[in-house]
Amino acid sequence: MAKVIIENLCKTYFGDKGRQVVAVDHVNLHIEDQEFMVLVGPSGCGKSTTLRMIAGLEDISQGNIYIDGKRVNDVAPKDRDIAMVFQNYALYPHMTVYKNLAFGLELRKFPKEEIERRVRDAAQILGLPDEILLRKPKTLSGGQRQRVAVGRAIVRKPKVFLFDEPLSNLDAKLRVQMRTEISKLHQRLNNTMIYVTHDQVEAMTMGDRICVMKDGQVQQVAEPLEIYNRPANMFVAGFIGSPPMNFFAGTLVEKGGSLFFSEGKTPLGAGQIFLKLEDTQAKRLVEWIGKPISLGIRPEDVEDKIVAPQTNPDHIFRATAEVTETMGAETYLYLNSGAHTFIARSREQILVAPGESVEMVVNMKKTHFFEVVASESFRKESGEVDLDKWHASCKILI
Ligand code: ATP
Repeated sequence: MAKVIIENLCKTYFGDKGRQVVAVDHVNLHIEDQEFMVLVGPSGCGKSTTLRMIAGLEDISQGNIYIDGKRVNDVAPKDRDIAMVFQNYALYPHMTVYKNLAFGLELRKFPKEEIERRVRDAAQILGLPDEILLRKPKTLSGGQRQRVAVGRAIVRKPKVFLFDEPLSNLDAKLRVQMRTEISKLHQRLNNTMIYVTHDQVEAMTMGDRICVMKDGQVQQVAEPLEIYNRPANMFVAGFIGSPPMNFFAGTLVEKGGSLFFSEGKTPLGAGQIFLKLEDTQAKRLVEWIGKPISLGIRPEDVEDKIVAPQTNPDHIFRATAEVTETMGAETYLYLNSGAHTFIARSREQILVAPGESVEMVVNMKKTHFFEVVASESFRKESGEVDLDKWHASCKILI
């Protein structure tokens, strides 16, 4: 069990023709003893590289890594007291499951009885029967192979477990099952665990805390609900949560002594959303009147008026249904307000025909407001705006 401290960690790769790729860019992260920390972000954000530097599988370009108080930058992977579980399981195909589990301990010259005890303990924890211990990996299902890969880490009794997308190769049902098993394993072993995934559902359900990364940089580190309820910027707000948060660009305008959010640049064209702020929101946003801001509404916070619990007329707008997806327990409505397409998620089984006009109610208390910086400096070579980069610069206001 150990604390892991990552200090100003950087990794630059040198690609073809001397092209530099900054994979990890000044990452600072304190992972507490016994904590389950999830590194999450889109493909290429540097999460695997960060994990591999912790494991010692990748040289560090700059910065420091401490495990249990000891600086490990120059410590060989085998001496770091970590165990890593890989996406492709990395089992030895010619060895039995028993041998796969025992091999690392044999290399470290553990006594035979101790190896036997640890292998049996790990097999019991993971529900691997004796019969499976005698088989070769190729005769196992994906889920069983994944268990063996985890077992190989357990027998080592490491200070820190590192997981690199360990469930990616499993089908959807097995993923959910293994997700719960790894969470239970953490509760049982109480080790420090660092888990890399691009799947925000895994991050939300497994992590004590989540570290959201983008372009090699940390966007936010917090407990799952804190990230969900108070995302640091529009990138995090859009990345965590499915379906994602809806964003409406606009401004705040004063009318009759109250503050309203008005979609678009000029007040009130056809289909523009015009919603009254809650008093507490208005108080905190007065200085933003007239400036470009974005209103963020999670799909579950906008509801068909027919089933909405509250019907404050200042929080209603009209939209046209485009597509209805009935999931059974809930319904996703894809709507267009004239100026904008957005998603509403209803707990009710509502049926709305495409093209039908519906009144939607927003739960304003749950809405977020983000500052909107100019998008010009976020243009890619192709001329398009790099939306993720731009959104990461649009910080939350409330
Ligand atoms: P994924 O979920 O796709 O695995 P990731 O967030 O784990 O993505 P990394 O694998 O850490 O991302 O890669 C971060 C960046 O570094 C990417 O742009 C990647 O192309 C680059 N990169 C990774 N390994 C190398 C390498 N050996 N040489 C050059 N560039 C690399």
